[in-house]
Amino acid sequence: MKTTTPRKTATKRAASVATAPDLSFVIPAFNEEANIAETIRRVEAEAARLVPAHEILIIDDGSRDQTFEAARAMVREAPVRVIRLSRNFGKEQAIMAGLERACGGAVVILDADLQEPLSYLETMLEHRREGYEMVYAVRAHRTDEPVLKRVLTKWFYRMISIGAEVAIPPDARDFRLMDRRVVDALIALPERNRFMKGLYGWVGFRAKAIPIELERRQAGTSKFGFRGLLRLGITGLTSFTDWPLRVWTALGMGIAVLSILYGIWILVKTLIFGIDVPGWSTLAVAVFLLGGVQLISIGVLGEYLARVFTEVKGRPGFIVAEEVSGEGPAK
Ligand code: UDP
Ligand code: MG
Repeated sequence: MKTTTPRKTATKRAASVATAPDLSFVIPAFNEEANIAETIRRVEAEAARLVPAHEILIIDDGSRDQTFEAARAMVREAPVRVIRLSRNFGKEQAIMAGLERACGGAVVILDADLQEPLSYLETMLEHRREGYEMVYAVRAHRTDEPVLKRVLTKWFYRMISIGAEVAIPPDARDFRLMDRRVVDALIALPERNRFMKGLYGWVGFRAKAIPIELERRQAGTSKFGFRGLLRLGITGLTSFTDWPLRVWTALGMGIAVLSILYGIWILVKTLIFGIDVPGWSTLAVAVFLLGGVQLISIGVLGEYLARVFTEVKGRPGFIVAEEVSGEGPAK
């Protein structure tokens, strides 16, 4: 087993610069045994048509099926490198593992289920020639998704855009072509809590969006359930916003001012009309409401603190268990 340090990766990349391909494909795959061979074949055919030299990096994100074996079987047929992570670290980390190892002058990130039509590659390369350093795909519509998912996604992007330093396009995909400069900038970011869709925007560069029509997943089911998306959403919010930490100051001040006014009102009323029977219901509601508000604010604080905790621990975002390519296992 081998952990990765940025330095090691940099050396590895430097060593292969002489034979650097024009294009590297980074394909994260989690339980995609039914798709991976076909995906590699199609990418290979398309890439061979478009650029003189390319490489295909498959990152097996701790699959429990035969994804690794299926991908490894392809190394004789295509310029494939298979990187097996030691367990499931999530799509964002799998992408990072690929980006760190990609040698190409440009890198394309692609899903392993072929939902993203490869026909857009040509347009992406054209825009790159026009001078764009990042060309990314945006879903033309989300009509294929359940209503609840659409509503939650919309709210998520609204929340993440409040007071945002950079705009995070709501329907952008990971499917994108990035110049080496963009890739190097992404790799240089030290954070472990990674929300890639935010980081792509954060690094800047000349970016161009192209609307795409998604196809149906080739085989298997989506790997992102509600919990997975929720976790990713919280990672996104905590790494790109700080307003959830601050709203409590304003809310607290508002409640304090109202309480003072209410206190004055009770004082005046008592002086004029005398003491009456205290309102227990008002008291109970106020106690529960404030208890709830306080617990929520502590919870929010906890979420941010948890992120700080993971960053401070400094564990690597992923661990590479094994790496194979046509030239045999990587040293
Ligand atoms: N994926 C991954 N690790 C995970 C979950 C997903 O590498 O923990 C990969 C998956 O194999 C696929 C891509 O991320 O190549 C997108 O996943 P999926 O198609 O399930 O997501 P959806 O298209 O439904 O949003
Ligand atoms: Mg998919």
